[in-house]
Amino acid sequence: MIFNYHTHTKRCHHALGEDREYVEKAIEGELKVLGISDHAPYLFPKSDYYSAFRMYTDELFEYADSVRSLQKEFAKDIRILLGFELEYYPKFHADEMAFLKQVNPDYCIMGQHFGGNEIGSPYAPTIKSEEMFSAYISQILEGLKTGDFLYLAHPDLAGYHYADEVVEREYRRLCEGAKALHIPLEINLLGLRGNRHYPDRKFFQIAAEVGNEIILGADAHEPKDVCDVLSEKKALQMVNDLGLHLIEKPLI
Ligand SMILES: [Zn+2]
Ligand SMILES: [Zn+2]
Repeated sequence: MIFNYHTHTKRCHHALGEDREYVEKAIEGELKVLGISDHAPYLFPKSDYYSAFRMYTDELFEYADSVRSLQKEFAKDIRILLGFELEYYPKFHADEMAFLKQVNPDYCIMGQHFGGNEIGSPYAPTIKSEEMFSAYISQILEGLKTGDFLYLAHPDLAGYHYADEVVEREYRRLCEGAKALHIPLEINLLGLRGNRHYPDRKFFQIAAEVGNEIILGADAHEPKDVCDVLSEKKALQMVNDLGLHLIEKPLI
Protein backbone atom coordinates (compact mmCIF):
# COMPACT_ATOMS: atom_id res chain seq x y z
CA MET A 1 0.00 0.00 0.00
CA ILE A 2 1.38 3.41 -0.84
CA PHE A 3 -1.56 5.53 0.29
CA ASN A 4 -4.13 5.34 3.04
CA TYR A 5 -6.85 7.87 3.73
CA HIS A 6 -8.47 6.13 6.70
CA THR A 7 -6.64 6.83 9.94
CA HIS A 8 -7.94 7.73 13.39
CA THR A 9 -6.47 9.43 16.43
CA LYS A 10 -6.97 9.00 20.14
CA ARG A 11 -9.43 11.90 20.16
CA CYS A 12 -12.27 9.60 19.09
CA HIS A 13 -12.01 7.76 22.45
CA HIS A 14 -11.50 4.33 20.88
CA ALA A 15 -8.13 4.73 19.15
CA LEU A 16 -4.67 4.62 20.70
CA GLY A 17 -1.33 6.35 20.31
CA GLU A 18 -0.01 9.78 19.47
CA ASP A 19 -0.55 11.44 16.10
CA ARG A 20 3.20 11.42 15.54
CA GLU A 21 3.37 7.64 16.01
CA TYR A 22 0.87 7.11 13.16
CA VAL A 23 3.10 9.21 10.93
CA GLU A 24 6.24 7.39 11.99
CA LYS A 25 4.64 4.00 11.27
CA ALA A 26 3.47 5.25 7.87
CA ILE A 27 6.99 6.37 6.96
CA GLU A 28 8.41 3.09 8.23
CA GLY A 29 5.91 1.25 5.99
CA GLU A 30 6.89 3.44 3.03
CA LEU A 31 3.52 5.04 2.53
CA LYS A 32 3.59 8.00 0.18
CA VAL A 33 0.31 9.52 1.37
CA LEU A 34 -1.18 9.35 4.85
CA GLY A 35 -4.64 10.83 5.24
CA ILE A 36 -5.65 11.34 8.83
CA SER A 37 -9.42 11.15 9.02
CA ASP A 38 -10.60 10.93 12.58
CA HIS A 39 -14.30 10.63 13.39
CA ALA A 40 -15.43 14.21 12.87
CA PRO A 41 -16.59 16.27 15.81
CA TYR A 42 -20.30 16.61 15.13
CA LEU A 43 -22.42 19.66 15.64
CA PHE A 44 -25.61 18.22 17.01
CA PRO A 45 -28.15 20.81 18.06
CA LYS A 46 -27.97 21.65 21.74
CA SER A 47 -29.38 18.68 23.60
CA ASP A 48 -28.24 16.20 26.18
CA TYR A 49 -27.22 13.85 23.34
CA TYR A 50 -23.64 12.65 23.62
CA SER A 51 -21.95 10.99 20.64
CA ALA A 52 -19.32 8.81 22.23
CA PHE A 53 -17.19 7.68 19.29
CA ARG A 54 -15.88 10.99 17.96
CA MET A 55 -13.75 13.89 19.11
CA TYR A 56 -15.40 16.73 20.98
CA THR A 57 -16.34 19.80 18.98
CA ASP A 58 -13.90 21.93 20.95
CA GLU A 59 -11.04 19.69 19.75
CA LEU A 60 -11.50 20.69 16.09
CA PHE A 61 -8.72 23.29 15.96
CA GLU A 62 -6.26 21.37 18.09
CA TYR A 63 -6.72 18.31 15.82
CA ALA A 64 -6.22 20.37 12.67
CA ASP A 65 -3.17 22.13 14.13
CA SER A 66 -1.61 18.84 15.11
CA VAL A 67 -2.06 17.30 11.64
CA ARG A 68 -0.90 20.46 9.85
CA SER A 69 2.21 20.73 11.97
CA LEU A 70 3.11 17.07 11.30
CA GLN A 71 2.45 17.76 7.62
CA LYS A 72 5.09 20.48 7.69
CA GLU A 73 7.55 18.62 9.84
CA PHE A 74 7.51 15.47 7.67
CA ALA A 75 6.95 17.13 4.30
CA LYS A 76 10.15 15.62 2.90
CA ASP A 77 9.21 12.08 3.88
CA ILE A 78 5.48 11.76 3.28
CA ARG A 79 2.42 13.64 2.10
CA ILE A 80 0.11 14.09 5.07
CA LEU A 81 -3.48 15.18 4.61
CA LEU A 82 -6.06 16.52 7.00
CA GLY A 83 -9.35 14.69 6.74
CA PHE A 84 -12.43 13.54 8.57
CA GLU A 85 -14.58 10.46 8.53
CA LEU A 86 -18.21 11.34 9.00
CA GLU A 87 -21.77 10.32 8.39
CA TYR A 88 -24.31 12.04 6.23
CA TYR A 89 -27.11 13.21 8.48
CA PRO A 90 -29.55 15.16 6.28
CA LYS A 91 -30.82 17.41 9.04
CA PHE A 92 -27.39 18.57 10.16
CA HIS A 93 -25.15 18.14 7.13
CA ALA A 94 -24.95 21.71 5.84
CA ASP A 95 -24.13 23.13 9.28
CA GLU A 96 -21.66 20.35 9.93
CA MET A 97 -19.74 20.96 6.70
CA ALA A 98 -19.62 24.69 7.44
CA PHE A 99 -18.28 23.85 10.89
CA LEU A 100 -15.52 21.59 9.51
CA LYS A 101 -14.68 24.10 6.81
CA GLN A 102 -13.24 26.36 9.48
CA VAL A 103 -10.08 24.22 9.33
CA ASN A 104 -10.14 23.67 5.53
CA PRO A 105 -9.85 19.88 5.51
CA ASP A 106 -8.23 18.29 2.48
CA TYR A 107 -11.00 15.70 2.20
CA CYS A 108 -13.77 13.81 3.97
CA ILE A 109 -14.71 10.17 3.68
CA MET A 110 -18.17 8.84 4.43
CA GLY A 111 -18.47 6.21 7.13
CA GLN A 112 -22.19 5.80 7.68
CA HIS A 113 -22.34 4.25 11.13
CA PHE A 114 -25.97 5.25 11.75
CA GLY A 115 -29.08 5.89 9.70
CA GLY A 116 -31.41 8.82 10.27
CA ASN A 117 -29.67 11.64 12.07
CA GLU A 118 -27.93 9.37 14.59
CA ILE A 119 -29.98 10.50 17.57
CA GLY A 120 -32.46 7.71 18.23
CA SER A 121 -31.33 5.76 15.16
CA PRO A 122 -29.87 2.25 15.33
CA TYR A 123 -26.20 1.48 14.73
CA ALA A 124 -26.06 0.32 11.09
CA PRO A 125 -25.10 -3.33 11.73
CA THR A 126 -28.10 -3.71 14.06
CA ILE A 127 -30.69 -2.54 11.53
CA LYS A 128 -33.03 -5.49 11.11
CA SER A 129 -35.95 -4.33 9.03
CA GLU A 130 -35.85 -4.40 5.27
CA GLU A 131 -37.44 -0.94 5.06
CA MET A 132 -34.84 0.60 7.35
CA PHE A 133 -32.03 -1.09 5.46
CA SER A 134 -33.36 0.31 2.21
CA ALA A 135 -33.71 3.78 3.75
CA TYR A 136 -30.13 3.51 5.04
CA ILE A 137 -28.85 2.77 1.51
CA SER A 138 -30.88 5.66 0.09
CA GLN A 139 -29.40 7.97 2.71
CA ILE A 140 -25.85 6.98 1.76
CA LEU A 141 -26.60 7.68 -1.91
CA GLU A 142 -28.14 11.03 -1.04
CA GLY A 143 -25.03 11.88 0.96
CA LEU A 144 -22.65 10.84 -1.81
CA LYS A 145 -24.52 13.13 -4.17
CA THR A 146 -23.47 16.16 -2.10
CA GLY A 147 -19.97 15.80 -3.55
CA ASP A 148 -18.53 16.21 -0.05
CA PHE A 149 -16.99 12.74 0.15
CA LEU A 150 -13.84 11.35 -1.42
CA TYR A 151 -14.97 7.75 -0.99
CA LEU A 152 -17.31 5.47 0.91
CA ALA A 153 -15.74 3.57 3.81
CA HIS A 154 -16.95 0.06 4.77
CA PRO A 155 -19.86 0.17 2.28
CA ASP A 156 -21.35 -3.07 3.61
CA LEU A 157 -21.27 -2.10 7.30
CA ALA A 158 -25.04 -2.69 7.60
CA GLY A 159 -24.46 -6.38 7.02
CA TYR A 160 -26.58 -9.21 5.79
CA HIS A 161 -29.57 -9.73 8.08
CA TYR A 162 -31.96 -9.71 5.15
CA ALA A 163 -33.29 -12.08 2.53
CA ASP A 164 -30.76 -12.77 -0.22
CA GLU A 165 -32.78 -10.89 -2.83
CA VAL A 166 -32.94 -7.82 -0.58
CA VAL A 167 -29.18 -7.88 0.02
CA GLU A 168 -28.62 -8.26 -3.70
CA ARG A 169 -31.09 -5.51 -4.66
CA GLU A 170 -29.99 -2.89 -2.12
CA TYR A 171 -26.25 -3.39 -2.39
CA ARG A 172 -26.49 -3.40 -6.16
CA ARG A 173 -28.39 -0.11 -5.94
CA LEU A 174 -25.59 1.25 -3.73
CA CYS A 175 -22.85 0.05 -6.09
CA GLU A 176 -24.59 1.43 -9.16
CA GLY A 177 -25.20 4.78 -7.48
CA ALA A 178 -21.58 5.08 -6.35
CA LYS A 179 -20.38 4.16 -9.83
CA ALA A 180 -22.55 6.80 -11.48
CA LEU A 181 -21.06 9.38 -9.09
CA HIS A 182 -17.49 8.07 -9.63
CA ILE A 183 -17.08 7.47 -5.91
CA PRO A 184 -14.78 4.59 -4.93
CA LEU A 185 -15.79 1.93 -2.42
CA GLU A 186 -13.45 0.82 0.33
CA ILE A 187 -12.25 -2.61 1.28
CA ASN A 188 -11.92 -1.96 4.99
CA LEU A 189 -8.82 -3.53 6.51
CA LEU A 190 -10.12 -3.13 10.07
CA GLY A 191 -12.94 -5.50 9.14
CA LEU A 192 -10.40 -8.06 7.93
CA ARG A 193 -8.12 -7.48 10.90
CA GLY A 194 -10.95 -8.02 13.36
CA ASN A 195 -12.75 -10.78 11.46
CA ARG A 196 -15.85 -8.62 11.27
CA HIS A 197 -18.85 -9.25 9.00
CA TYR A 198 -17.35 -6.84 6.47
CA PRO A 199 -15.79 -6.67 3.94
CA ASP A 200 -17.88 -9.53 2.57
CA ARG A 201 -17.41 -11.29 -0.75
CA LYS A 202 -21.13 -11.08 -1.51
CA PHE A 203 -20.92 -7.31 -1.57
CA PHE A 204 -17.69 -7.13 -3.54
CA GLN A 205 -18.95 -9.70 -6.03
CA ILE A 206 -21.70 -7.18 -6.84
CA ALA A 207 -19.15 -4.35 -6.96
CA ALA A 208 -17.10 -6.42 -9.42
CA GLU A 209 -20.14 -6.93 -11.65
CA VAL A 210 -21.05 -3.25 -11.50
CA GLY A 211 -17.43 -2.25 -12.12
CA ASN A 212 -16.88 -0.02 -9.11
CA GLU A 213 -13.54 1.52 -8.32
CA ILE A 214 -12.13 -0.03 -5.17
CA ILE A 215 -9.76 1.45 -2.63
CA LEU A 216 -8.09 -0.08 0.41
CA GLY A 217 -8.50 1.73 3.73
CA ALA A 218 -6.48 0.81 6.82
CA ASP A 219 -9.08 2.25 9.24
CA ALA A 220 -6.18 2.42 11.68
CA HIS A 221 -7.09 2.89 15.33
CA GLU A 222 -3.54 2.09 16.46
CA PRO A 223 -0.28 3.28 14.87
CA LYS A 224 0.78 -0.25 13.92
CA ASP A 225 -2.37 -0.64 11.79
CA VAL A 226 -1.45 2.15 9.39
CA CYS A 227 0.56 -0.43 7.45
CA ASP A 228 -1.29 -3.65 8.10
CA VAL A 229 0.43 -5.90 5.62
CA LEU A 230 -1.43 -9.08 6.57
CA SER A 231 -4.90 -7.57 6.06
CA GLU A 232 -3.71 -5.87 2.90
CA LYS A 233 -2.71 -9.29 1.57
CA LYS A 234 -6.17 -10.67 2.30
CA ALA A 235 -7.77 -7.66 0.61
CA LEU A 236 -5.59 -8.07 -2.46
CA GLN A 237 -6.56 -11.72 -2.59
CA MET A 238 -10.21 -10.66 -2.73
CA VAL A 239 -9.38 -8.08 -5.41
CA ASN A 240 -7.72 -10.81 -7.47
CA ASP A 241 -10.33 -13.49 -6.91
CA LEU A 242 -13.21 -11.24 -7.87
CA GLY A 243 -11.43 -9.23 -10.56
CA LEU A 244 -12.07 -5.93 -8.76
CA HIS A 245 -10.88 -2.67 -10.22
CA LEU A 246 -8.37 -1.46 -7.62
CA ILE A 247 -7.26 2.16 -7.57
CA GLU A 248 -3.50 2.19 -7.67
CA LYS A 249 -2.69 5.88 -7.71
CA PRO A 250 -3.40 8.31 -4.87
CA LEU A 251 -6.78 10.04 -5.20
CA ILE A 252 -5.47 13.34 -3.90
ZN1 LIG B 1 -13.48 4.28 14.78
ZN1 LIG C 1 -12.92 4.72 10.41
